[in-house]
Amino acid sequence: MELGVCYYPEHWPESTWKPDAERMKDLGIRWVRVGEFAWSRLEPEDGKLDFAWLDRIIDILGKSGLKVVLGTPTATPPKWLLDKYNDIYQRDVQGRKRGFGSRRHYCFSSPSYQEETRRIVTLLSERYGKHEAVGAWQTDNEYGCHDTVRCYCQNCRQAFRDWLKYNYADINALNEAWWNVFWSMDYLSFAEIELPNLTVAEANPSHMLDYYRFASDALIAYNQLQTKIIREHSPGRLITHNAMIYFGDFDHFELARDLDVISWDNYPLGMLEHSPLPETTKEQFLRSGHPDLISFNHDLYRGVKRRPFWVMEQQPGQVNWAPSNPLPAPGVVRLWSQQAFAHGANVVSYFRWRAARGAQELMHAGLNLHDGSPDRASAEAKRVFEEIPEESAGQITAPVALLFDYENLWATDLQKHAQAWSYWGIQVSWYMVLRSFGLDVDIIHPREDLSGYKAVFAPALHLVDDLLAEHLSDYVRAGGQLVIGPRSGAKTLTNIAQAPAPGPLADLMGLRIDHVDALRPGFEEEVEFQGSLYAYTTWADLLTPTKAEVLANYQSPAYVGAAAITRRALGTGHCTTVGMWGSPELNAVIFSSILRTAAVPLLHLPDGLRLSRRGNIDYLLNFNQEPITLDGGLEQAGEVIGPHEVILLRR
Ligand SMILES: [Zn+2]
Repeated sequence: MELGVCYYPEHWPESTWKPDAERMKDLGIRWVRVGEFAWSRLEPEDGKLDFAWLDRIIDILGKSGLKVVLGTPTATPPKWLLDKYNDIYQRDVQGRKRGFGSRRHYCFSSPSYQEETRRIVTLLSERYGKHEAVGAWQTDNEYGCHDTVRCYCQNCRQAFRDWLKYNYADINALNEAWWNVFWSMDYLSFAEIELPNLTVAEANPSHMLDYYRFASDALIAYNQLQTKIIREHSPGRLITHNAMIYFGDFDHFELARDLDVISWDNYPLGMLEHSPLPETTKEQFLRSGHPDLISFNHDLYRGVKRRPFWVMEQQPGQVNWAPSNPLPAPGVVRLWSQQAFAHGANVVSYFRWRAARGAQELMHAGLNLHDGSPDRASAEAKRVFEEIPEESAGQITAPVALLFDYENLWATDLQKHAQAWSYWGIQVSWYMVLRSFGLDVDIIHPREDLSGYKAVFAPALHLVDDLLAEHLSDYVRAGGQLVIGPRSGAKTLTNIAQAPAPGPLADLMGLRIDHVDALRPGFEEEVEFQGSLYAYTTWADLLTPTKAEVLANYQSPAYVGAAAITRRALGTGHCTTVGMWGSPELNAVIFSSILRTAAVPLLHLPDGLRLSRRGNIDYLLNFNQEPITLDGGLEQAGEVIGPHEVILLRR
């Protein structure tokens, strides 16, 4: 486990570089990311290159014993380059140009930009690919930030038509897959198909879903363009990309195939401010962020490649981009860093070394203040370094998995049907219950190998085909406990209704679904489960058992007595269907009963106190502003953990 920092030498006088490198070394920093926004200083004018300053800083860092993560500068093409070509800018959903003056002002489908990318990445990787200080590369920066995955320009229109032609071959196959007979939307050729914007009513959701897939693929192809060049010129170096918080506009499982390691940017306070959690929870975790909101991302990015990840940008103090930007409490930067290691990070890299004095991020903290002197997080980073275990980073062995995928996110959120519906929301609500039991959770793709898990949780497994049904049935037959949530089995892969639902999952779930209830935001109905009443909101599938037993019934006057939770025995396992978006209390009761069947030992941790296990170390993390007396089944019952404290316990 190692520490890193994001560094912008081009912002500061060259006289500061060497002392900066020495202080980085003193703090225990190993990795330094540079270069990812520096195109205008690497190539100030068309054809006029200036790599000498980058040569010097890479040498200085290398001589100080630091390793460089070299960023390709493609997130910020310079003005002269945009002026040279007329097809680089993105168009927004209203068809308007998204102009120069910030960042990410390019379209992935632009042939000119692809060519310019090829040129700059080749120059950089030829020059630095074998430099001994360069240990890793970062392609671009935060793909998709500022809503830039989905572009509505002429290049994208053509590329979308090509993508459709490649995937469907025959226009009638597309008409059928999209159900274009509806509203006379049939096409005679691929050349007639427009991007799904500027329509009078909403566009066909099957059209939208394929456009989302196309936009994701275009981004991944653009990234591949870079990784191929880097691999050719920089053998043995890691290639990464820094993904973002709760960002689902592209398929990260697909992107990660072309990377050696995935990294993500962890900004817990901005994440909390932007979350839909209740105001009281936001106030409770105002200066630490919510532990489960943060670790969901850790566990997802660990699951994306099923191996350790990096945090490329770790918040070291205030951020600048949330509606409100409180100071983190003392100790919290250490808490976040240790939490990242506990969930499988191999590197935690702080953003940034020194606070910028101007421009968009001037209110964003660094490890150092605007004047270059150490800010509070410097001392916390040093403490984290001193606490890094001697032994090499251990593995995480999670007893349970949560199934997540981007296509289900797109398909359910495209047709929410209930205003409060959110794929992220139901995923996180199930995850929080599992984390409150003290369980380590793998968040993985539904088609991954499930055989190692005692229980598998699948909220909103919306788009299904026979292969997926077979895969899940195999898991259950072999003794697995599978829990399937609302909106599952509703559609085919091209967003057509299964008739009847849940389509290929009917045998596994042992039921059919003819009606769904979509509730107003905040409106609660009740189910009766094990003699008690529990609330649910947002969504309910009315289950009609064919082979399943009924465990709970709806109490809504509109459908009183309909089955709400069912269980189907298959082979030596069970498939439990939870038809509704249950309250945390309801989910806790159902899940704990299933986990007992699966022989998974459970704790009952209070809000804000979390346990994570990696290798032979247990991490106890208190995100509360108050000390907590440990109980809930922990071995350390009776001991007190301080506010924002983390305890490392060797097993
Ligand atoms: Zn475009």
